[in-house]
Amino acid sequence: MAVADLSGSVLWFFFSRKNILMRLTCPFCGPRGIEEFTYMGDATLQRPGKDAEPAAWVDYVYLRQNPAGAHSELWYHTAACRHFLTVDRDTRTHAITTTGTT
Ligand SMILES: [Zn+2]
Repeated sequence: MAVADLSGSVLWFFFSRKNILMRLTCPFCGPRGIEEFTYMGDATLQRPGKDAEPAAWVDYVYLRQNPAGAHSELWYHTAACRHFLTVDRDTRTHAITTTGTT
């Protein structure tokens, strides 16, 4: 029985350890590959108050910034400790300056 050659396939790309593009340092688990985490969005969003206008809720739910530079992000360590992390990252270079808990 022949073994399928997956070297050029999408599966090989995702499961090959050579293709880890970014690592995050979880305060609980240590440095881990990005495939263990789930991006949860902008960590600076503030929920509108209960008396806020509908337009404020539309902005909160649907509108996002797309900054080029320093950005504070919320990540979830899906594959291990399941903690939420706040990561300060430069979106141009992917340099991570701070990783902390929420
Ligand atoms: Zn963790």
